Amino acid sequence: MTTDQNGFEQSLDAALPMLMEMKKNLRPSPKATRTSLEKLQVILPPSFEKPEGTPSQTKRVPSPESKVTAKHSLPAAVDDGRLAKLEVLRKSILSCTKCPHLVTSRTQVVYGVGNPFSELLFVGEAPGEDEDLKGEPFVGKAGQLLTKIIGAMEYTREEIFIANVLKCRPDMPEGESGNRKPKPAEMATCLPWLREQIALIKPKVIVALGLTAVEGLLGEPRTMRDVRGKWLDYDGVPLMPTYHPAYLLRNQTLAEKRKVWEDMLLVMEKLGRPISAKQRNYFLEKA
Ligand code: URA
Repeated sequence: MTTDQNGFEQSLDAALPMLMEMKKNLRPSPKATRTSLEKLQVILPPSFEKPEGTPSQTKRVPSPESKVTAKHSLPAAVDDGRLAKLEVLRKSILSCTKCPHLVTSRTQVVYGVGNPFSELLFVGEAPGEDEDLKGEPFVGKAGQLLTKIIGAMEYTREEIFIANVLKCRPDMPEGESGNRKPKPAEMATCLPWLREQIALIKPKVIVALGLTAVEGLLGEPRTMRDVRGKWLDYDGVPLMPTYHPAYLLRNQTLAEKRKVWEDMLLVMEKLGRPISAKQRNYFLEKA
């Protein structure tokens, strides 16, 4: 067995529990039978299954996502080897030691979570205490709000992908709780990981949650006043900057919630998602 083959099979092993979990949690249930999920275990990519003398590209590998019918039937993605590459990348990120001070302070690296073929990527700042403990981005209070926003867009967390600019929780001075912003040097060191994730996931739209995410993705600091609600560009991918959910937790007015929601409506429009009248009117002040 080749190294590539090994990598691919490990990716399938990694994908299978996620698909089982999606099948368990999605409402309505995804249209994937246990048999089709199990069949994934024996599927090899074209380069591995091509018999001698057969022209290449004769057979396409059905991606795990093409077997899963979610709420709005996300377009099927073809696994052109990305799952295997993502698995290699995931392992490298999880064992990163580029910032020795964070290696010492972290509980674990927070790689990201969701659909590896997602059309939509949310990028945050860095794991906080809750994320560091759980190993998953956006699981604390701000994360719960983000999950509600994702739900209001009629996505599930499993359908999209969530990552951070920094993969480790920024360390705190001895005895201090809370979270701090990543330092420029930490961001510069960690950003290549995010860039590689984006290059492999190939989202159609990126949402930058807060200015740290905007700065990380654009390579320069900007102001929220200048960028919020406007389409920017990350390497040809439309980028929508919006407030970080932690900001919304501190500023719980309908007006601020509506601003984020308007940004999400633009994202849904860009992705061709159906938008109901009810969705259009969320957080509008009663006249
Ligand atoms: N805030 C972030 O920016 N990212 C997380 O993962 C959690 C909170």
